[in-house]
Parts: sequence; C-alpha cells; structure tokens
Amino acid sequence: MTRFARRAERVQPSAIREFLALAGQPGITSFAGGYPDPTLFPIEQLHKIYDDLLTPANASALQYTASDGTPELRALVAGRLTADGMPCAPDDVLITQGGQQGLDLVAKLFIDAGDVIVCERPTFLGALIAFNPCEPAYASVPMDDEGLDTDALEQVLRTTQRVKLIYTVPDFQNPTGRTMSLARRRRLVELADEFDVMVLEDTPYRELRYDGERLPSIKSLDTSGRVIHLGSFSKILAPGLRLGWVLAEPEIRENLSLLKLAADTQNGTLNMRAAAAYLSGFDIEAHIAGMLPTYRHQRDLMLASIEEHFPAGVRWTRPDGGLFTWVTFPEGLDTAAFQRDHLIPRAGVILVPSAPFFATEPEVNHARMSFSGVPDDRLVAGVTAMGGLLREVLA
Ligand code: PMP
Repeated sequence: MTRFARRAERVQPSAIREFLALAGQPGITSFAGGYPDPTLFPIEQLHKIYDDLLTPANASALQYTASDGTPELRALVAGRLTADGMPCAPDDVLITQGGQQGLDLVAKLFIDAGDVIVCERPTFLGALIAFNPCEPAYASVPMDDEGLDTDALEQVLRTTQRVKLIYTVPDFQNPTGRTMSLARRRRLVELADEFDVMVLEDTPYRELRYDGERLPSIKSLDTSGRVIHLGSFSKILAPGLRLGWVLAEPEIRENLSLLKLAADTQNGTLNMRAAAAYLSGFDIEAHIAGMLPTYRHQRDLMLASIEEHFPAGVRWTRPDGGLFTWVTFPEGLDTAAFQRDHLIPRAGVILVPSAPFFATEPEVNHARMSFSGVPDDRLVAGVTAMGGLLREVLA
C-alpha cells in the first residue's frame, strides 16, 4: 500500500505463521511452538486470586493505574532482581507487556534508521520483528558452545560504524539453547564500555535451569549503566498474563516509561494485581523448582531420542535449560523444504526452520526444536519419524 509509512516495509508477515497454524491440529506433533507447558500453570492459585480481586472491595483492580506498573508489583520484581545480583529499587523497574514490549520500547528509544544493532547468529526472531520498524541495520556475531563469540564481536565493533546496541539472550538462548560463559559475559561488558555501545540483555529463560549453577546476569557485571535487562513472567508464571519487566538506569527507565505511556498507557491492572498477589501470597521459587523436573525430563528425552535416531552428520546443542535445542543438518539440506516436502506430509511433524533467526546472511540448514509440552510418546515417535526421513533424504 503506497500510503503506508516506510517502516511498514519492514513489517512483513513471517514465513513461520503458515505452518504454525498446523500446531494443535490432530495428528500433528509440534516441536515448533516453544510455549511453556500449560499443565504447569498455577491455575488453582490464580483462580483464587482473581476471585478475590473481582469483588467490590478490590474494584481498584479494574481501575487505571500508573503506567510504570503497580507499586506492589514493581517492588516485588525489584526484590527478585536484587536477590539475583542486580540490586535495585522499585523505581528502577518498568513493568511491560511481556519481554516483547521491552524489545520494542528499547528499539524506539535508541534506534534511528540506519543505526546498527549487533545480534547473535542466530538470534531471537521476535526481537528482529520488534526492532525492524525502527529501520535498523544489523551486524551478526557467531556463537559457539560458550555463547556469543566475543573475539568476533570485537572485530565487528572495530569495523562497523554506528553500532548503538548489542542484543543478547545469554541464558539458554532462543533459538540455540546456548548459555554465554562467565568469561564471555565479562568480556562483552568490557567491549561495550570500550566501544561505548548499549547492551540489551534478554532473559526470559534464565530461571529454567536444569543443570549446573546459575551465572551472573550481564546487568550484574555492568558498572557504567549501559546494560538494559529484560525479564518476563511468561515462562515462570504464564505468558497469557503478558507481564515482563525492564531494569535500567533512571534516565533510560524514565524515557522507556514515556514511550510505554504513548504505546498502551499501562499494563492491565488486573493482571498486575494478580501477579503481585501470587508473588506475595505463594512461593514462586517453589513453583519454578517444581516445574524444572518436567522440562528436564522432556529435554533429556528429546536429546536421547535425537542421539538414537538422527543419522551421522547431524549436530545439535545440549542446553542446560530453556526450551530449545538447535539442530544443524549437513550443508545442502534446506530445512524449510525438508519440512514442507517430507516432515509435514509424511510424519506430521513441525519444527522451525532456521532462516528467519538470522539478522543477516540467513543459513537454511538448521532447525529449532522445542521439547516443551509434547507428550513423551509423541515426542519419541516424532523424533524417530524425523530420523527416518533424514536418513532417506541425506542418503
Ligand atoms: N525474548 C525471548 C528470547 C523470547 O524467547 C521471548 C518469547 N518466548 C520473548 C523475549 C518474549 O516473551 P514474552 O513477551 O512472552 O515475555
């Protein structure tokens, strides 16, 4: 449409939408979604909380409230962040519509058309969708099992003009499941200081750790206020609440608040009140700890099934947490075509082909596979069928 603004050119429908519509249909096994397991939502507790809130004494739960978020929820989030090595006050926290709104607001605050955002290779597709309307240019930095390669990052920072922001998902990244090592986190902060760029740390999977020790957040290593930390209740409580947060220096936080006011006035008061009631009335740490064995089991089952059934020449990541493994097929295999021609029609299996996860120079021979929420028998049957088709196609 010629009357659309220029930014509309950068808001194209994603190729993923088509086949994601298949998820949930009978006969389809979806490794594509990456949704948290709905059997793990604390429904009974939330039911009681909403019942209480929807009474005349709590009519203010249906009223407008502050655009930064309700004071109780900001304080509770600040308390959890402080306990996680990021000492902060309620005023330092902005409540957002999920982590996704944080991505949108940060891009709006920092990115003029042509400014460069440095992303991991591959990166979270939803972040690219959020950033694109601001018309950024992208640079991307390879990853290995220690996360973003900071030597390659240094090279990019040395040779690229107008870098404003480095975007990273350090814990159990979407889509690779990889975690950035402590040494790399430190180096990233050093490089950001040296080259004077902002860092956007996005951590929705941070608390879904199944093995090993929690690493300090990048924000906790930041001494110059250049790291913006995003978090979310989507994976630890429920994504339908649409609740996330931004932790940032006062000047940044205030400007993000103004942009949030412009975008949507505030998050729904009812959901913020409910989340605050959940956090103060129940033990969310116990709730999270209670979810981990389910996800750990699903991860182990998927990795073991892949190991058993995928042919030689296929590689995959072994995530310590989160919801995803990233599978790399031999070069020459186009995952989207393999899915369209074989996986869907012959096995009823869907996953997410890799190309849209690349900010630059897309690679087509990988896939993101989520182990969350697929019943054991379907998971094993899906991976087994996929292995058989891969053997055939790669032969
Ligand atoms: N960042 C990453 C890396 C994600 O994977 C997601 C979604 N799963 C989000 C942000 C946004 O999630 P939400 O808006 O539900 O918090």
